[in-house]
Parts: sequence; C-alpha cells; structure tokens
Amino acid sequence: MNTTHHAICHFIRALYQSSEFIPLHAPKFTGNEKAYVTDCIESTFVSSIGKYVDQFEQMVAQTTGAKYAIATVSGTTALHIALKLAGVTAGDEVITQPLTFVATCNAIQYCGARPVFVDVDRDTMGMSPASLLSFLTNHTRQSGTECINRTTGKKISAVVPMHTFGLPCRIDKIAEICAQFNLQLVEDAAESLGSSYRGKHTGTFGLCATFSFNGNKTITTGGGGMIITNDAAFAKRARHITTTAKVPHPYEFIHDEIGYNYRMPNLNAALGCAQMEVLPKILKSKREIALAYADFFSRSPLHFMEEITHARSNYWLNAVILDNRVTREEFLKELNTAGIMSRPAWHLMNELVMFRDCQCADLSNAKWLEERVVNIPSSAKIT
Ligand SMILES: *Cc1c(COP(=O)(O)O)cnc(C)c1O
Repeated sequence: MNTTHHAICHFIRALYQSSEFIPLHAPKFTGNEKAYVTDCIESTFVSSIGKYVDQFEQMVAQTTGAKYAIATVSGTTALHIALKLAGVTAGDEVITQPLTFVATCNAIQYCGARPVFVDVDRDTMGMSPASLLSFLTNHTRQSGTECINRTTGKKISAVVPMHTFGLPCRIDKIAEICAQFNLQLVEDAAESLGSSYRGKHTGTFGLCATFSFNGNKTITTGGGGMIITNDAAFAKRARHITTTAKVPHPYEFIHDEIGYNYRMPNLNAALGCAQMEVLPKILKSKREIALAYADFFSRSPLHFMEEITHARSNYWLNAVILDNRVTREEFLKELNTAGIMSRPAWHLMNELVMFRDCQCADLSNAKWLEERVVNIPSSAKIT
C-alpha cells in the first residue's frame, strides 16, 4: 500500500478506535429513539396522524429558524412538492448543479420540467454564483416577470442549488441573482441540516427548501423529508397537497385537487423527534472529527474540504481531493480493501442517460471535482 494511504488508514482506525469495518456514515441511536417508537406503537397512531409528526415539524422549524416545516416520506418527495408549489410546471426549465444526488434532477423531471446545469465552485462544491449569473446574463431574456431561455424559448422558473456534503454554498449571492432574474430559489438542503451561512441556517435564503432524513443523512427517520418555508400560504398548500388534498371533515372524503400520499408517518417522526434531541451532540462530534481530519490532512499531500469564510458546515460527509482520476482509483481501492469505506462523489447529472441532452454551462469545476473527490468515514462518535 502507498505510504500516504497507509497513514490515512492508520489515522482513521485510531480516530474511530476500531479494527473492524468502518462505514462511511452510520446512524446513531443513543437517545429516546426506542422509547418514542415504542410509545408510538402503543398509541396505535403509527400512520400520518399523530403527535410526533407535529412535534418533529416544530423541532425542525425551530432548529432552522423557518416559520413552517412540513414532514414528508422522503427528501425526494419534499423536493417534488417544493418545486411544484414554487410554480414549476410542465415544459419549464430549472437551473441546478451537475454535482448532486440524482433526486434533485428527478424531482425537477417529476414536474415535467428539464434541468439546466450551471457549474459549481471548487471550494464549496455547491452552485457557483458566477456561473449562474453568467448563464442568466448570456442566455436569457426577461419577458414581463418571466425569465426566458433564449436558446430553447422555454421559461426558467426556479433555481435549485445544493449544499454539497453539508458545506454551505454561496447562497446569499445566489439568492440575490434569483431575485434579480425573477427566479424562485428552492434550496436542496438534504445534506445540510445544522449548516449555516452568515448565521442563517441553510434552506432559509429563498422561498423554500427541503431536507432528507434517509438512513445515511445527519439524522434519520428511516426514510423521510421536510419542506421548510416562511410563507404561510405556501406551507398551507404543502401540507394539503402532501396529505391527498383532503378537505378537513369529521367523516367525509372530499379532495379538492390531485394530491399526493407524501405525509410522513408518525412512526418515522417518533424516531425523528428522538434524533432531533441528539442533533446538537451529533453536530459537535462531526465538527470534532472534521477538525481532526483537517489537522491530519494539513500534513499530507491530500486536500481536505473545509467550510468557506462565513459558512458553518455540519460536516455530514467529509471529503478529500485527490490529484487525478488515477490516484483517486488507487485511494478508493486501497481504503475499501482495508475495510475503511470510501466513495467517489456522484457521476455528474449531465452525463446520466436521462439528462444527457440537457443544456449545460461550462462545467469544468464540476468535472474537475468529480474526478478527484472522495468521501471518507464521517459517522458521529456519540454513546
Ligand atoms: C439524500 C438526498 C436527497 C433526498 O433523498 P431521499 O432519499 O429521497 O430522502 C435529495 N438531494 C440530495 C442532494 C440528497 O443528498
């Protein structure tokens, strides 16, 4: 094994005090998880109605500083509804970044819209305000209050930046640009619960944002998601449409539009409430781990990704930058063979078969990162 990789393996084993397989990210259930889930089962209210759903929503609203939070069955469904209610309709286009999880683009497509890709910044791995501004300036025109893509003639309705691996992107600049071009800002904050920029939680810079509570995220509900917003009418519609658009009535089934069965079950929310209680501890541990990595990698040839000035990352998944594709492959092979899980970033969205013909700005930073980024073990250490 390459001596640098050997030292990294040694460091990670010492960090996690383990000689066994070290996963990339394992959930931690050290609080009231069993008690709340058991209580939920005993109450018989295991589906979409119950006190834990409301409580979980309140906890997320409080932590993020958003006025309203609406719990859903997944981060993907949260994004679908967020985009739909932001006004994304069939035939529209939505600007996003190519370096993201496929759910971002799938949700755009569920609305009948197509993604348009702008580049990311190398230091945040999130949407580049410069690339966004350049694309909008050179390729769009304003028609009334609409932003029209001059190449395709289609309406661009929203922009979806993503806070990659928990590192906040330059979201204040992106919000300014969206306002300037009449575009709705929908943050995919799936990976960034607990992250903030200039003292404001990620997901609170635009109309709305979404989180994911999948098993590998910072906290988990098994599967789950959340929409947050400060807009009362938006929140009301989001709650309505995610619960089959059922009009409140003591016994009759009246639905006033096509709705979705997207509401988070109480059973999942029970787990979520317990996880939210432990969130501060999880974040503290993740920051300590990131600091230890930063210190270690400052004495190694590899670059460790850190939060930019004014940003506070939750350090959901720690990431290092390798020299090139070849050294990345060697790194992945050696660490995984040694029982230390490491993983490359996603294939770029614009290279997947479904999105291959989507319009792209110059994506050289995304390409550069895709060839070099590797995630390394990042589980919180709490007992
Ligand atoms: C996890 C994730 C989602 C949503 O995932 P679900 O599995 O549907 O909860 C969306 N976007 C990004 C960037 C993600 O990492």
